[in-house]
Amino acid sequence: MAKQEFKTEIKQLLHLMIHSLYSNKEIFLRELISNSSDAIDKLKYLTLTDENLKSLKFDPRIDVRIDNENKTIKISDTGIGMNETDLVENLGTIAKSGTKAFLEQLEKEEKVDNNLIGQFGVGFYSAFMVAKKVEVVTKKAGEDKAYKWVSEGNGEYEIVEAQKENYGTEITLFIREDSEEFLDEYRIENIIKKYSNHIPYPIYMEKTKYLEDGKTEKEVVQVNSAKALWTKNKKELTDEDYISFYETIAHSNEKPLKWIHTKAEGTIEYTTLFYLPSKAPLDLYRVDYQSGVKLYIKRVFITDDDKELLPTYLRFVRGVIDSEDLPLNVSREILQSNPILAKIKKASVKNIFKMISKLDDEKYKTFWNEFGKVLKEGLGDYEHQEKILELSRFDTNKREFVSLDEYIEANKDEKVIYYLIGKDKELLKNSPLLENQDKEVLLLSDEIDELVFPMVTKYKEYEFKPLNKEEVKDLSEEYKDLVAKVKVSLGDEVKEVKVTDRLKETPAVLVFDEDFNPQMEMMMRQMGMDAPKPKPILELNPNSEIIQKLNENYNEEILKVLVDEAKLAVGMEISNPKEFIDRINSILKKSL
Ligand code: ADP
Repeated sequence: MAKQEFKTEIKQLLHLMIHSLYSNKEIFLRELISNSSDAIDKLKYLTLTDENLKSLKFDPRIDVRIDNENKTIKISDTGIGMNETDLVENLGTIAKSGTKAFLEQLEKEEKVDNNLIGQFGVGFYSAFMVAKKVEVVTKKAGEDKAYKWVSEGNGEYEIVEAQKENYGTEITLFIREDSEEFLDEYRIENIIKKYSNHIPYPIYMEKTKYLEDGKTEKEVVQVNSAKALWTKNKKELTDEDYISFYETIAHSNEKPLKWIHTKAEGTIEYTTLFYLPSKAPLDLYRVDYQSGVKLYIKRVFITDDDKELLPTYLRFVRGVIDSEDLPLNVSREILQSNPILAKIKKASVKNIFKMISKLDDEKYKTFWNEFGKVLKEGLGDYEHQEKILELSRFDTNKREFVSLDEYIEANKDEKVIYYLIGKDKELLKNSPLLENQDKEVLLLSDEIDELVFPMVTKYKEYEFKPLNKEEVKDLSEEYKDLVAKVKVSLGDEVKEVKVTDRLKETPAVLVFDEDFNPQMEMMMRQMGMDAPKPKPILELNPNSEIIQKLNENYNEEILKVLVDEAKLAVGMEISNPKEFIDRINSILKKSL
C-alpha cells in the first residue's frame, strides 16, 4: 500500500502531541500498555466464544524492551492483532466524534492536561510525544498475513506486508533526542508499576542483571502484579492499590473522591468496584460520552461501551462489574433485557448512592459542584427520585449548600418546600418575589432544574411548591380603575393585571403562574422546537408610592417603564430597549 494521508483530525492531534504536550510525557506507556491489555481482552473473549479460535494457544503477555543501541522501546503483546483494514481504520482515523471537541479544548488551553488524552480514545498517538517514528508490526489472530504500519507523525503513514510469526502486535518507538530519559530501565519499570500494576496480564521487561564479575546479562522479569484487582479481598488492598487501579481504568491522574467495592454472594454472584471521580470528564455533557463502567463476565472483559449498565445520570461513575452468572456469549441486545444484569444494575445504583452519601463535607462539595447537575437529571426517575432529592444540595435565600433534610429541620412548621426557578442565581437572590418573605426558599438556577423540578411534587411528606404559585391576596377590586387602564396600555402583552399583597418595595412584578416559563421557552427554542410565548401576570404593589401616585394620576409612559423593569428583574429581555432608554431619559430630565 502506498503512503496514506492521516485524516485532518489526526494531523491536528499529532501536531499537538509533538508540540504542546511537554509535561507528563510518561503516560505514553500507560496508553500503549492499556491498548495491549484491551487487545488481549478481545482475544481472550474470542478464544472462549469463537469456534475458529478455540484451539488457538492463548498465552497472554505484554513485553517491554529497551534497546539502548538503536534507541528504541518495543512494546509487544499477544493480543488479537490487526489486519490491513484494522490498521487503516484504527490507526489512520479517529472513530470517535468526541475527538473534535477534544482537539478544540486542547487548542484553547495553553498548557495541555495530559489526563485528557486517554479519555478521548487517542491514546495510541501519545507515542509521538516521545518517538520520532513509530512502527507497528501486527498479525491478526486466525489470519496468515502480517503487516507493518509506519509513521513519522508528519501527516502520513505507510502500511506494507511484513513477517511475524505469532499473532499479536509489536510497537517500536524510535525515541526522540529530547526524550532519551525513557531509555532508562529503571525509569520504565517505575512507570509500568505506577500506571499498569493492575493490568490483569503479566507485563515483562528485559532488565540488566549485574553479575559478580562485573559483567552483565539480560533477564526477563515480570514487573506488575497482574491480578484483576477487584477479585482480591478488600482486606488485602490498600488505598494506594485502589487509587492506582483507578488511574488505570479512568486514564486519570486525579485522585478519586471515594470508592465502593462489593462482592455479592447470594442467589447471584458478582463483584462491583465503583469510583467517584473528583473531576468531570470533558465529554460529560456530550451525547456520545464514553461510558466509565466495564463489564466482565468471570474476569473476561465483555464491554466498556454499554451505556445501560448504569442510569445515564450516574455516567460520571468509573468502575467494574464482574458477574459470575451471565453466559459469556451474550449479545448486546440480550444483555439489555437480561434479568441478572437488571438485578446487578439495581444493586449498583444503591451502592453508588451509598458511596455518595458517605462523602465528608469537603468532598461532598467537590462532588456536588462537578456532578450535581448530572445527578439531578435523575429526578425524572421516579424509582430513585426521593433518594436523589436526599442527596441533592441547594442554595436558598438564606444560606448555601443545604440538604432537604436540613431545610425541613429548619422549617418544621411548614409542610411545604418552597422554591423559585430562574436562569441566574443573582437574579433569583434579588427576586422581588422574595422581598416580602421570611420563608426559606430554594433557589434553582441550573438549566436542568427547569426540566426536572416540575416532576418533583414531594419529598417525604413535604410538598414542593414554586413560590410564584403561593396564595396572595387579590386586591384588584379596590383598584378597578387602575387595573382597567393598565390593561388597555398593555394589551395582550400580559395575561392578566392584578393588585396583590405579594410585594414590599418593588412597584410591580411579573409572575408566571404556569409551569411553562421563559427559561423553558428558551430551551425549547434552542432544541429547535416551536415554543409558545409564556405570558406572565403583572402584579402591582398597592403599598408602593409609585403605584399609589399612578393610581391617582395615570401615566402610561411610567407604567411601561415599570413593566420593563419587572422584565429585567426576572431575566426576560425587554422588547424595545431604545424606547425604555428614551423613557428613562425623559424622566431623568424632568427630575433634574
Ligand atoms: P482507544 O484505545 O481508546 O480505542 P487508541 O488510539 O489508543 O484508542 O487506539 C485505536 C485503536 O487501535 C484501538 O481501539 C484498537 O482497535 C487499535 N489498537 C491499538 N493498539 C492495539 C494493539 N496493541 N493491538 C490491537 N489493536 C490495537
